[in-house]
Amino acid sequence: MLIDRFGRTVDYLRVSVTDRCDLRCNYCIPKGYRQFEARESWLTSHEIIRVIKTFAKLGTHSIRLTGGEPLLRKDIVTLVNRISKINVIRDLTITTNGTQLLKLSKPLYDAGLHRLNVSLDSLKQSCLLKITGTDCLNQILKGLEEAKKIGLSKIRINMVPIPGQNLDDIDQMVQFCIEHNFILCLIEVMPMGKTGQHSKTVNLQPIIRELKEKYKLYPIIDRIGNGPARYWKSSQNTSFKLGLITPLSQHFCETCNRVRLSVDGILYTCLGQNDQMPLRPLLRSHCSDAELEQAITQAILSKPKSHNFLEKPNQINRIMAKTGG
Ligand code: SAM
Repeated sequence: MLIDRFGRTVDYLRVSVTDRCDLRCNYCIPKGYRQFEARESWLTSHEIIRVIKTFAKLGTHSIRLTGGEPLLRKDIVTLVNRISKINVIRDLTITTNGTQLLKLSKPLYDAGLHRLNVSLDSLKQSCLLKITGTDCLNQILKGLEEAKKIGLSKIRINMVPIPGQNLDDIDQMVQFCIEHNFILCLIEVMPMGKTGQHSKTVNLQPIIRELKEKYKLYPIIDRIGNGPARYWKSSQNTSFKLGLITPLSQHFCETCNRVRLSVDGILYTCLGQNDQMPLRPLLRSHCSDAELEQAITQAILSKPKSHNFLEKPNQINRIMAKTGG
């Protein structure tokens, strides 16, 4: 078991399999961004699997593949297949922008993917174009339809509400999720990199109060997945579930159970701090399994108590796509 100084068990690893993305969401990757990792620095699939197996041995049973856009990585289906065969991994999920889902839903499902989070900030073509820099709504909707059709259940839609952009689209998104039996998760924008720091932020609490009232929501005790979202269910629409990720207005650091591996093999022990353990030099110097385990255990012991997004909003230069959202 991996247990940190504050008694928190870490049993969830998020792996960024690429830092590249085909979209440029204006709160995430800056336009003209050039600081992508060189391909030689990317962990190979063999190295990723080795790290995941080591985490699995140390008690991890949830893996999320993310990025950048994970579905752009050429060996993504093979990776999913190999991870799904690791016995103790009970929850294998991907966070994607959905642009590649039409062609990849079936191969990913067949490879053993359990669940899917799809980021979609608006159902209005022009609004989504403005946020992502690409006219991608129809492509994403077709991908979602395919994912649902082939049987990927519990699809979650991630939406980052931003004042002046998509704040008025929340109701339409709720209706869409009810209609398709998707879970909706609202996420507060975090000050990561200049894009996140310059983005207009929103306190989700008043919006949540309104939604609770309107859809008669009550908290779900059972967990969905292993992440930070808190979930609510509608007593009107039994199928509708709302997830909330509120790192700024109501943080959840005291129950944090996860760490992140970047595409270049750096283990980040907190999204909102710079604490890190580079694993690539170890992996490439043919370290023993015991050495790798020791490095991971040591990193977990230095996991920070909490982020400082409010106190030090300019502290994190890494954009979300670098750390793996
Ligand atoms: N490309 C994939 C996608 O779009 O879902 C995975 C990577 S993306 C970085 C993962 C999630 O992080 C997305 O839901 C995105 O909206 C969110 N995200 C990116 N930058 C963020 C920020 N500064 N604050 C909050 N969420 C952010």
